[in-house]
Parts: sequence; C-alpha cells; structure tokens
Amino acid sequence: MPKKFDDNWKRNSVTGCHNWKGRMTATGHGRFEVEGVWQFSHVIAWERNLGVLLKERQGIEHTCENPACVNTDHMIIRDLVVHTDSA
Ligand SMILES: [Zn+2]
Repeated sequence: MPKKFDDNWKRNSVTGCHNWKGRMTATGHGRFEVEGVWQFSHVIAWERNLGVLLKERQGIEHTCENPACVNTDHMIIRDLVVHTDSA
C-alpha cells in the first residue's frame, strides 16, 4: 500500500474519526485509486489494517455514522441481507 493513502485523511481529536480529505462519492464516502481502480477508502483501510478482505455480500458499517471516516475502530462488518420474495 502506498504511503499516499495516509496523506488523505486527518484525525479529528474530538471524535477520533479519520476524516477523508481526498476524493468523495456523492454519498460522502472517500475514494482512493489503487493500481488504476477506484475503491472506497474505508474498505481499503479495513483490508489493510485488519488484513482481511471483504467477502461478497459483506458491507462495512460506520459506528460513528460518518461515511468519510477511515478509522477501522469505527467500523463493523455487516452481512448484507438478501431479500427474496419467495412465496
Ligand atoms: Zn469515525
């Protein structure tokens, strides 16, 4: 992981959030380019810091409710529930 990732966020000493300063999506999530592919910054942070790749049908939820936050202490993994209309 290039060091550049860590140049893109700043810690908020009050909330402890690592607020993304780089590119954002319309939903307020940070984005970061790795080898030509744009990815969510919080997903990159999670996979880097914990060494665990996000599985299919898993999503990251921010416990701080700050989508721009890349502090993995503020994230939990949620299994995405697939709703089926089977009768
Ligand atoms: Zn946070």
